[in-house]
Amino acid sequence: MNLVFLGPPGAGKGTMAVRVAEHFSIPHISTGDIFRANIKGETELGKKVKAILDAGNLVPDELTIDLVRDRLTKPDAQNGYILDGFPRTIPQADALAGFSTVTKALNFVLVDEEVVKRLSGRRVHPGSGRTYHVLFSPPKVADTDDVTGEPLVIRPDDQEDAIRNRLEVYRKQTEPLIEYYQSKNLLVDIDSSPAPDAVFKTVLNALS
Ligand code: ADP
Ligand code: ADP
Repeated sequence: MNLVFLGPPGAGKGTMAVRVAEHFSIPHISTGDIFRANIKGETELGKKVKAILDAGNLVPDELTIDLVRDRLTKPDAQNGYILDGFPRTIPQADALAGFSTVTKALNFVLVDEEVVKRLSGRRVHPGSGRTYHVLFSPPKVADTDDVTGEPLVIRPDDQEDAIRNRLEVYRKQTEPLIEYYQSKNLLVDIDSSPAPDAVFKTVLNALS
């Protein structure tokens, strides 16, 4: 099962990807997580992309495509994968079609007002990528990761200015992928507005 998760930033793609990955024992591949790990580790790639992520712009296609092409050659991705946050442009989708066959594209649908609420309350554990929300899925102890006890942070791109820019970038560059996958009969819309357990049920139905 080779899955692509589409949808605006904050729609809940990562939250569902973690559950789906566990359920089907396939890897959750988040290009955003990979970039953030490189930024944290101060690698060459991290230095190149930090300012781009902070502003909420897209990393250049060639760089992102090479990264994903390489990741999909790893043994754990041979029986399926979830791509969360890739492709984000038509050239990325075309490139993906050249090196892998997508089985389904799930499109997580959420109105902007809810997107902003989700992004502005998001807290993350930088070490693991675990994601919380101050109201909708709070940690056991405020601002603290449940597993490690380490502090949670607000992503730089979850500040108001960057959120606005990311939504614009999404509209212009990523939304056309909905039609792209629709025209290939691979698209399934998922209403992302209910609570996570309900969204997860919808996702499992869509995949059965
Ligand atoms: P994305 O990967 O699409 O950017 P996330 O999975 O990081 O989205 O979710 C964004 C924020 O919304 C997080 O704080 C997460 O805890 C919260 N969230 C995710 N799914 C839901 C849901 N179904 N209902 C309420 N909040 C949610
Ligand atoms: P969200 O789901 O909340 O939008 P992600 O973690 O998927 O955030 O992505 C964070 C940032 O990483 C994006 O704003 C962009 O700068 C970069 N990024 C992630 N995936 C891609 C991609 N496929 N192409 C270009 N840039 C990307």
